[in-house]
Amino acid sequence: MSQSAPVTNTDNTIPYAEARDAMMSTYAPPETVFVRGEGAYVYTQDGDKYLDFFAGIAVNCLGHCHPDLVSTLQAQAGQLWHMSNAYRVPQGETLAHKLAELSGLGKVFFTNSGTESVECGLKMMRRYHFDHGHPEKNRIIGASSAFHGRTFAAICAAGNPVHTKGFAREDEGYDHAPFNDLAAIEALISDKTAGIIVEPVQGEGGIHVASKEYLEGLRALCDKHGALLMFDEVQCGIGRTGKVFGFQHASVQPDIIALAKGLGGGFPVGACVASNEVGASMVVGTHGSTYGGNPLAMAVASKVMEIVAQPEFLNQVSETADKLHTALNGLVEKYPTILSEVRGAGLMVGLRCKSADANGALLGLARDNKILLTKAGDNVLRLLPPLIIDESHIAEAVEKLDQALASYAATL
Ligand SMILES: *Cc1c(COP(=O)(O)O)cnc(C)c1O
Repeated sequence: MSQSAPVTNTDNTIPYAEARDAMMSTYAPPETVFVRGEGAYVYTQDGDKYLDFFAGIAVNCLGHCHPDLVSTLQAQAGQLWHMSNAYRVPQGETLAHKLAELSGLGKVFFTNSGTESVECGLKMMRRYHFDHGHPEKNRIIGASSAFHGRTFAAICAAGNPVHTKGFAREDEGYDHAPFNDLAAIEALISDKTAGIIVEPVQGEGGIHVASKEYLEGLRALCDKHGALLMFDEVQCGIGRTGKVFGFQHASVQPDIIALAKGLGGGFPVGACVASNEVGASMVVGTHGSTYGGNPLAMAVASKVMEIVAQPEFLNQVSETADKLHTALNGLVEKYPTILSEVRGAGLMVGLRCKSADANGALLGLARDNKILLTKAGDNVLRLLPPLIIDESHIAEAVEKLDQALASYAATL
């Protein structure tokens, strides 16, 4: 394995270790430095080529430097970057209309990240009931092994002690029930419940797919108790599962959807989409964002949606995904002592390992074999390739993973 020589900073004046030390230790990246990307590949400063089945955590949905995104960004950069929401942003209005239409909802608030989209949705749940004379309806139910981002509200809604420890108080108005367990929600939900937040496919938690019955059952329970249903589609939305939104595999309509990641194809942008009725509570003064929905973000996100929402594009994602699942199942059969199953929806795929040791080791061995993946909970290796991959990328990925698995098997 070739190890990249450490770079310093952009102007080479500060020693590498010193510059790196100035970063908070919230991440622990390997030494490898990537300097260029094209399609499904990224290149290091030494020219090493990696197959990117990580896509910046499902962000680079059209791969790296998609020509249409590059030209859109460059054109907008030469026109107008930022005005603030004190003025109209026509590209945003058009994109909002498109997202409203695609989701069957009606109102959109643009943000800069997933956690802000979630935060907006959670605030909206409470504000809606407050507006309708029910301030007591303010509790929010989340699912176990959920992930909704890193703001206070998002960590409380997900309730993962790793993320709340030292930050959140004991009771911030959130309840939790095991994922995919309707009976548990039924036991928890009450007239104090403002709403339920769930990922139709859990990403960080380990690629757990919500059953159709679960999503539809949540809708029925919310309707019965006058609560709102919110889907966090930050990871599973924007074509990732072969539909524009992950929930569209079930017959269910949420009141609120949180979006980000794939929406900008690499440009930071998010959106919180709500029904007309719920969105109506967000009047002047209730919420805001300085950057949210600025012309640069809106231009790029509009282009992403123009491409991703095409039926032919989505069909292609589903077909490619079937081939990937089949190919990965071959690896599970070949390495039954290391791998236990392939799961997921579309190109949001989990390769479950039988041990935490295998999970950790395989991530590094995969990288040694020039393929990038990431981990998720429950000993899962997570594959989130760009949605533009074809059969050749699948064959290459499986070959590289096979090599990584063979290396790991040799150590057992
Ligand atoms: C990544 C993610 C978030 C948080 O998004 P950020 O852009 O990191 O704030 C929220 N929910 C889900 C499901 C995610 O995968």
